[in-house]
Amino acid sequence: MIFQCGRERAIFRAFFIGILVSAACMSSVAFAVIKVVTTTTDLKSFVEYVGGDKVQVISMVSPGAEAEEYAPKPQDLDRLKSANLVVRVGLDYDLWLDRMLRQTGRTELYKGGAAYVDTSNAIVLLEVKGGGIGGGGHAHGVGNPHYWLDPKNAAVITGNVVEALARIDPSNAKYYEKQRVDFLVNLDRKTKEWQGKLESLRGMPMLTYHNNWPYFARRFRLNFAGTVESKPGVSPSAAELSRLLGKMEAEKIRVIVKRPQEPNREVDFLAKKSGAQVAVLSTSVGDNGSKDYIQMMDGNIQNLLAAFNKNLK
Ligand SMILES: [Zn+2]
Repeated sequence: MIFQCGRERAIFRAFFIGILVSAACMSSVAFAVIKVVTTTTDLKSFVEYVGGDKVQVISMVSPGAEAEEYAPKPQDLDRLKSANLVVRVGLDYDLWLDRMLRQTGRTELYKGGAAYVDTSNAIVLLEVKGGGIGGGGHAHGVGNPHYWLDPKNAAVITGNVVEALARIDPSNAKYYEKQRVDFLVNLDRKTKEWQGKLESLRGMPMLTYHNNWPYFARRFRLNFAGTVESKPGVSPSAAELSRLLGKMEAEKIRVIVKRPQEPNREVDFLAKKSGAQVAVLSTSVGDNGSKDYIQMMDGNIQNLLAAFNKNLK
């Protein structure tokens, strides 16, 4: 009897240790951090919202840099070689990524591969026939690529991301989906708040340096009446500047929007000559010190309202 008990205990102990070992093995698979490389800081923010503590995200373009004219660095290729997932804006926004993906030699990172995410997938594009690439600068040929600036598009973007995360890390699929739902509920609440704040600007014309804002404008019913650039990526000539001054006067354009990293010269000239206010808005997380997408949008709405309010004084 005693012998049997001891034996049973030994068997039980062996069995129990077995469970512990297999649990430890499983957890090392289930909880290994997923390494994600994004092209932009906005996508980094979206992946962090849905990936929580299960992901480690690096953006190739750093805050304040020009994503559309980015020159990849050697460390970007190293990061891609060890990434579990690559997430891009797509369209003509981050074309420079294609060559790098081929250089990794990892077919799962190629278009259509299990580790490849193009967040423009299923986005309803604006300006699809809008002017393509001209004498220089970057293309907006296949549709305007600045779609993440409509907060409602975050549902599609994060949908694409969660689908991919669940594919490569199925044991956490429920976690990613819950994170996504929580984020979208919060973002929806913020979007209503932003809509309320921007209601007073409805229909009021403004200029923008670059054509960044069609999705933002549609969501918040804003009137971007023209661009300072003559084409995407091409700064205006003296003749175009004087034409813009005429337009500003004729259409009572009192605000010019620019991003922190866009040139000041032409915008300051137009503002000085016309008496318009300049509103500095960010199109990417971190451009103006923001930590995430919601903070960036909060700052944009605040700066836009402040520029219009200055005109009233
Ligand atoms: Zn652009």
